[in-house]
Amino acid sequence: MKRTFPLHIQILVGLILGVVYGAAVSLLVESPVQIQQFTSDWIAPFGQIFVKSLKLIAVPLVLFSLVNGITSLNDISRLGKIGGKTIGMYLLTTVIAVSCGLIMVNIFKPWEAINGETAKEIIHTFSNAADTKISTAIDVNNDGPLQFLVDIVPENIIASSSNNGSMLQVIVFAVLFGVALLAIPKEKTSTVKHFFEGVNDVILKMVDIIMYLAPIGTFALISNVFVQNSTHFSELLAAIGRYSLTVIGALLLVITTSLIFVYVLGKKNPLKFLKSISPAQLLAFSTSSSAATLPITMDCVKNKVGINEEVSSFVLPLGATINMDGTSCYQAVAAVFIANVMQFDLTLVDQLSIVLTATLASIGSAAVPGAGMVMLAIVLGQLKVPMEGIALILGVDRILDMCRTVVNVTGDAMVATVVGSKVDTVASNNP
Ligand code: ASP
Repeated sequence: MKRTFPLHIQILVGLILGVVYGAAVSLLVESPVQIQQFTSDWIAPFGQIFVKSLKLIAVPLVLFSLVNGITSLNDISRLGKIGGKTIGMYLLTTVIAVSCGLIMVNIFKPWEAINGETAKEIIHTFSNAADTKISTAIDVNNDGPLQFLVDIVPENIIASSSNNGSMLQVIVFAVLFGVALLAIPKEKTSTVKHFFEGVNDVILKMVDIIMYLAPIGTFALISNVFVQNSTHFSELLAAIGRYSLTVIGALLLVITTSLIFVYVLGKKNPLKFLKSISPAQLLAFSTSSSAATLPITMDCVKNKVGINEEVSSFVLPLGATINMDGTSCYQAVAAVFIANVMQFDLTLVDQLSIVLTATLASIGSAAVPGAGMVMLAIVLGQLKVPMEGIALILGVDRILDMCRTVVNVTGDAMVATVVGSKVDTVASNNP
C-alpha cells in the first residue's frame, strides 16, 4: 500500500489541526468544562489507541532488533567497538546537554520573573499532583548507589518483557542472547538467526500498519493536551513563561550541537538529516515518548538517513532507553530555576554536581511521558532543595515534555549517524 502523502505531512496536518482545535477551545469557549469532557470522551481515546499500539510493539522491537543487530555484526570484537563508541557518545552528548541547560538558565535567570506570592500560589494549586511525583521519586531515592545496576539485570525475562518500564532488562537479555548466538558455530544457529530476522520483518510491517493511524492519533493527542490544560495555561504561562522559554532556548542549543556533530563527525548535511528524521520528531512531539517513537526513528535512520541496519538496530533501541539529551538539559534548567525561586543559593560546586546527577537521572528516566519530571525530584533531592518545588513547573510540563522528547529522539538519531559513519569508514579502510 502506498501512501498518498508522505508520513511527515500527514502527522504535521494532524498536529496543526490539533493545535487549532485546542487553541480555539481555549480562546473562544468561556467555560470549557463541557468541551474538555467531550474531548476526553470522544477524541482522546483515539490518541490512547495509537500510543498503546506503538507501545505494544516496543518490547518485541527492542528484543528482536537488538538480537538481529548483534548477530549481523558477525564477531564479538565488532560489538565491543560499536558498543564502546555508542556509550561514549551517549555520555558525551548528555553532559553537553546538561551544560547547555546550565549556561542558558544562568544567562536568562528565569526566577527573576516570578515573585514570592505567585510562587506560593502556584505551589498551592499544583501541590497535590506534585505529591504523587515526589513519592515515586522518594522510593527511587532511598535505594543504595548500586541499586540501578542490580535493577537492570532481569531475573525472569517473561516478567520483564511484560512491562514496558523494564526495557533496560530486556536490553540486557537481548545483548546476552545476541553475544551467545555469535559465540556458537554458524551451522548450528542459522535457524535461530532466520527466525529472529523473520520476526523482525513482521514487527516492522506491523509498525507500518499502525502508522496509518498516525494523523488521527496525533490530532487526538495534541488537541487533548491543549484542551485539558486550557484553564490554567495562560495564567501559568504568564507566570513561568520565562522559565519555559529558557528550557526551549536550551533545547534549541542542544539540537544545534547535535547538528554540528552530524556535520563534523557524521559527515552528513544537517538540513537533510533534519528532513529525514522529521517524521520521528513530529511523532515524538505528539506522543511525548521516545519509546513509542522508536519504530519510526529506526525507520527514518535506516531508510532515509541511510545508516546501515547493524548500527541502527543496536544504537537506537539502546538510545531510546538510556540517552536523553532533552530530558537532562531540562532537568538542569528546572533544578536551578526551582532552587532559586525557593531561595536556595547554588554554589558552583552545586551546579557542577547537577551535571552528574542530571546525567544519571536522565539515564534512569523511562522513555514515557512525564518520566523526566519524576527523576527531576532526585536532582532536587541531591541539592537539598525541597521537592515540593516541582509544583512550580508542573502546569507547563506536558508541553515542555513534548519539546524535550523531540530533542531526545534527535540525539539518538544523531549518535546512530555518527557511529554509523565511523563504522562505514572503518569497514572501507579494512576491506
Ligand atoms: N518523555 C520523555 C521521553 O520519552 C522523557 C521525559 O523527559 O519525561 O523521551
